[in-house]
Amino acid sequence: MSKQFVSLLESALRIYSPSDSEKDISNFLFNTMKDLGFSNIRIDSADNVIGEIGSGNPTLLLCGHMDTVPGELDVKSNNGTLSGRGAVDAKSSLISMISAASSFCNNLPLGRIIVAAVTNEEGNGSGIREFLKSNIMPDFAIFGEPSGIEKITIGYKGRLSLKIICNTPSVHASAPWMSKNAIEELYLIWNDIKNNFPNEHSNHYKQVTACITKIIGGNADNVMPGVCELTCDVRFPYRYESNKILDKIQTIVNENNNNNSDSSYLLEILDSTPAFEASKSSLISRALGRSIIHHLDIKPQFVHKTGTGDMNVLGNSLQIPVVTYGPGNPHLSHTSNENISIDEFLMSIEIYKTAITNLIHLYGQN
Ligand SMILES: [Zn+2]
Repeated sequence: MSKQFVSLLESALRIYSPSDSEKDISNFLFNTMKDLGFSNIRIDSADNVIGEIGSGNPTLLLCGHMDTVPGELDVKSNNGTLSGRGAVDAKSSLISMISAASSFCNNLPLGRIIVAAVTNEEGNGSGIREFLKSNIMPDFAIFGEPSGIEKITIGYKGRLSLKIICNTPSVHASAPWMSKNAIEELYLIWNDIKNNFPNEHSNHYKQVTACITKIIGGNADNVMPGVCELTCDVRFPYRYESNKILDKIQTIVNENNNNNSDSSYLLEILDSTPAFEASKSSLISRALGRSIIHHLDIKPQFVHKTGTGDMNVLGNSLQIPVVTYGPGNPHLSHTSNENISIDEFLMSIEIYKTAITNLIHLYGQN
């Protein structure tokens, strides 16, 4: 079986699937689940692929994303590793979960496993949001994202994606005293924003961070720009109120509006995702933790991430015990050096399998 699972992973890596281009990988996953014996397999309107095993309670959701960041990489097998875009983030996790679940196709002792391969996680999260509309109410969930096989991710920061737009009268570049320069205006505003969120924590998980991700302005080399748009990404820790951040930034924008009669400044919210922290003592954390001890003979580490993932969306909306877990070195995510150890990938399948068995056992005891 392990050869079959490695070749499934390799095939998945060969299908380049950046966010918004998931049709081919979606069909591949549909056929894969069909071949492996899943039931009730479907593709929804967001191209998410959902397959089931068993029926009744409890329902365990295994959820991973099929899209990657853009940037195609050659798929290569070398010294026991497989490299390619998505090898770490997060096709190894997804194929590992599908493989592990498939071993229960004819013999799940209790309840139901739903595997959901969702789209657009690296984009705006539209896949998981569409999946949530389907009214599937899992009792537990594991998200497949790289944590390394000895670590379980239980916390993610929240995210705000904001756009600030400045409009000023556009004038000839030879007479810059006639108006304000929209690019310079936004840069001053940006400095103000950054000063409000200083790097004062050595623990990045507990700190609010802000970063410019895009700036668009100017259209000719002899015209002073009259429009500029700045996009920024703000990450904030669990229990931090995102409204505080919005209030501060809105105040800065309002002050600029009040102080400049012929320029206008506008704040738009592009995305707002709350932070999320899962419990270390939930049944799913314990089931997975015991599986790691069983297979690796080490105590799992529970980790917090400075990123934001689909676990934030599902954990906050369903309020069920969830964890994030998957093979691969998370520091290789989004890099041109994405590669996964085949041994680690195969071990993760065993760990997911034992975690499922442990969960059923723990659930039966409750
Ligand atoms: Zn990911």
